[in-house]
Amino acid sequence: MSPFWNRRTAGLSPYIPGEQPRDRRFIKLNTNENPYPPSPRVIEALERVLAGDSGGPRGGDLRLYPDPLCGEFREAAAAAFGVKPEQVFPGNGSDEVLGFAFGAFFESEPVLFPDITYSFYPVYAGLWGIPHRTVPLRDDFSIDLRDYLPSPQRGLPGGAVIPNPNAPTGRALAAGELARAAEALEKHNRVLIVDEAYAAFGAESLTSRINDHPNLLTVHTLSKAASLAGLRVGFAIGSEELIQGLFRVRDSFNSYTMDRLALAGGAAAVLDRAYYDGVNRRVIAVRERTAAALGVLGFEVVPSRANFLFIRHRGPAGNPGAALSGAALLAALRDRGILVRRFDQPRIADYLRVSVGTEEDMDAFLAACGEITGAPGGGGSRG
Ligand SMILES: *Cc1c(COP(=O)(O)O)cnc(C)c1O
Repeated sequence: MSPFWNRRTAGLSPYIPGEQPRDRRFIKLNTNENPYPPSPRVIEALERVLAGDSGGPRGGDLRLYPDPLCGEFREAAAAAFGVKPEQVFPGNGSDEVLGFAFGAFFESEPVLFPDITYSFYPVYAGLWGIPHRTVPLRDDFSIDLRDYLPSPQRGLPGGAVIPNPNAPTGRALAAGELARAAEALEKHNRVLIVDEAYAAFGAESLTSRINDHPNLLTVHTLSKAASLAGLRVGFAIGSEELIQGLFRVRDSFNSYTMDRLALAGGAAAVLDRAYYDGVNRRVIAVRERTAAALGVLGFEVVPSRANFLFIRHRGPAGNPGAALSGAALLAALRDRGILVRRFDQPRIADYLRVSVGTEEDMDAFLAACGEITGAPGGGGSRG
């Protein structure tokens, strides 16, 4: 606490990002980055920005502000998703897009999201002073969308935010179910945000149905599926009226959230579907192989449609007392140079979220798990 902070600042509960170690010793399976490099076309686009259009010195274009309307990027994303450029809102990572969306669309009635989900949502609600209500996941960590609909008992929600697939569980909903929820909320002029950060890893995207639902905003990021967490590019797709609302908030804050490199690199990334389809097929294959191996090692693995696995040690059959706690596993993996993520919250404190790394990363991870749990066939010699 500082006497210089105002009450709003003192009252915030900021998001705590996963660790980004400065030394390179760790196998990083803790922040869901893509282990494979971005498309070569992205690198070429960044090089073109540095070379400059105007024939001046290298980097000379960085003298100039970027395009505040982000035309090149919005046209590229519109072409990639089959919408109009006016239906695309880009931001400095989808975190920023989500933050603006909370400010633009929610107000005095509680906004709903799952009790176990992306932990930034309550932070945005807190920042904007928006009440929120968390809705418990079912015991198997699936989302029951009926809990998000207006009803006489529950009253009218201020809106809803659903990640599909959900994080950190990895479980996905069918697009048709989400579409029905959007319809029910539209009758009351409430916005449904579907956070599709991980949709490219095997969930059904709702974005192709965006024109059926003027109250639906899908939120996308290039951080996970496009291997560009370091470039900071996210975007929302929705009806023109929703997109204009987001621009009103952004332009009351900072009209240049997207720099020239992010705009050009992001445009190249959204257009290179072929490259990223290959990358993400590979991530999915490694995920499935890792999930099967973890099952053999005595782990419960939540079915995942994302680029991470949500796992809990069960212990050997017939001896559940021998299960290792999430905290013990996290520490033992760290001792072996492997970072994963644990969320110290009810119901999931014994689970670990493990990002899908390269084939070699996951071999090392599985070997470490075998060694730590003492499971037969754990391949401890490789660790
Ligand atoms: C990673 C993540 C984001 C944020 O992505 P950025 O574009 O890197 O800000 C948003 N939502 C969910 C569910 C995420 O996991």
